Amino acid sequence: MLPWVVRRTRLPLLSLRCVDCRSESATTGEGRFRVNANGKLLDVWLLVRCVSCDRTSKLTVHDRAPVRSFDPAELDGYHANDPELVAERLLDPLLARHNRFTLDWKGAWRLDAPPARPGEAWPVRVEVAFADPVPVRPERLIAHGLGLSRNEVLRRIKCDVPLHRPTSTGFAFTVMAGD
Ligand SMILES: [Zn+2]
Repeated sequence: MLPWVVRRTRLPLLSLRCVDCRSESATTGEGRFRVNANGKLLDVWLLVRCVSCDRTSKLTVHDRAPVRSFDPAELDGYHANDPELVAERLLDPLLARHNRFTLDWKGAWRLDAPPARPGEAWPVRVEVAFADPVPVRPERLIAHGLGLSRNEVLRRIKCDVPLHRPTSTGFAFTVMAGD
C-alpha cells in the first residue's frame, strides 16, 4: 500500500471581489485578526487585502459574541494573530459561506507521493489522505502522481469514489498493471 498525502504549501488566496478595483483576488498575507470589545460583546474579524490595490477588508469571524462564550486560548490566539488559528478560520467552510468568498488553491498545495518500488507486484493499492481540505479531482491527482495520461487513468484505475468529482476527503484506489 502506498500512502499519498495532499497538503497545503501556503494559505490559499480568496476569490473575493474588491469594491474599489473590481479585482477578484485577496490574500490574508501574514494573517491578522482585529478584535473589538463592545461591553460584554466581542467582534472578531480576519483582515484580508486585495492583491491588486491593497485595499483591506474585514471578514466577520464572530459578530457580537458574548466574551464568556470564548475559550481563553482561542481569544489569546485572536489577539496574537496565531498563524494556526488564521489557517483554521480561513479554511472553515462556514467563514467562506458567511462572507461570500471561495478559496483559490492554485499553486498553494502539493502531493507527497513516495515512488512505487521497482518490481512491486501489480495491482498497487494507494491511499490518499488530506492534511488540508484542498479540493482535487481524483483523476487529475492520480494522473499527476503516477505520471499517467488521463486515458490510462480511466483504463487502469479502480477507485472507490467518482474520478471526476472534486473531493477533499480521503479515498483509495488500485492501479492495475499496464500492457
Ligand atoms: Zn482592489
